[in-house]
Amino acid sequence: MKSVSRRLRLLGAVVVFWPLSLLAAPHVVVSLAPLHSLAASVTEGVSEPTLLYHRQQSPHGAGLSPDQLRLLTQADLLVWVGPELETGLSRLASRLPNGAVDWRWHDYDAGMNQYETRPALFETDAEALYGEHDHGRMDPHFWLDPRNAQAFVINLAEELAQLDPANAERYRANATAEQTRLGDLFNQLDAQLAPVRDKPFIVFHDGFQYYQRAFGLNALGALVVTPEIPPGPRTVAQLAERANQVDGVCLLHEPQFSERWLQPLAAAVPNARLAQIDPIGSTLDAGDDFYARVLIDLTDHLSDCLEQLP
Ligand SMILES: [Zn+2]
Repeated sequence: MKSVSRRLRLLGAVVVFWPLSLLAAPHVVVSLAPLHSLAASVTEGVSEPTLLYHRQQSPHGAGLSPDQLRLLTQADLLVWVGPELETGLSRLASRLPNGAVDWRWHDYDAGMNQYETRPALFETDAEALYGEHDHGRMDPHFWLDPRNAQAFVINLAEELAQLDPANAERYRANATAEQTRLGDLFNQLDAQLAPVRDKPFIVFHDGFQYYQRAFGLNALGALVVTPEIPPGPRTVAQLAERANQVDGVCLLHEPQFSERWLQPLAAAVPNARLAQIDPIGSTLDAGDDFYARVLIDLTDHLSDCLEQLP
């Protein structure tokens, strides 16, 4: 009898010990800082996701250092936008350990606004400029619409709930709370942008389609569709012609890319104001509410410039 209860006690110790180690929360690795911030809001109280890129690193064509590659090999769940944006990472996602989940933006099927890439002069027919071949390529900068960020956290919570059922309710409750905060953020930015909604601007690269559409803004065009391809003189001339038809326009450059590329356009548009906007928060401090601060910083810089137009 004594030995049975002793065995039961030992068994109890094993039963208590094993589930804890088996149920260790999945190690989540997230490529891009704004998405990392959203993911951290979902895993709060369970685990801390790892950020893959340096915050100054443009996701376009980003390569990975040996340290970053090591992070990849430790992931249970890799959250990234996908090969449409992260061409460098698309070659490396195969380095994930066996059984790790490769989770890309187009997996987030519920409730996401998704737009195709568009030509530099937005309303021009895409096929006329780029040929039928590129038509239908999705614009990957989805996170700049806070409503997409809402869909992202809800979908990520479901993915995590499947990987880690013991913490499913925590993930879901976190995502629901974040969804509410993101709704408040959307309303705050929408109110801030309301007075300048019709003021025209031109962006360096077309990373702001989701943001522009979310808030109904008046973007005239982009100097380049993706930063991998430098601007052509024809695009510069067409954008300048369009910009010179309005009383004033903001030309927006980004900290990841050389301001030099905007200079031919700035020189051809005497009524332009230059300002900087940053879609990934590369100049902001890491930490709490990073996603919201990226959107607020972007909106502050854009609205400051647009308010000064006639
Ligand atoms: Zn981009």
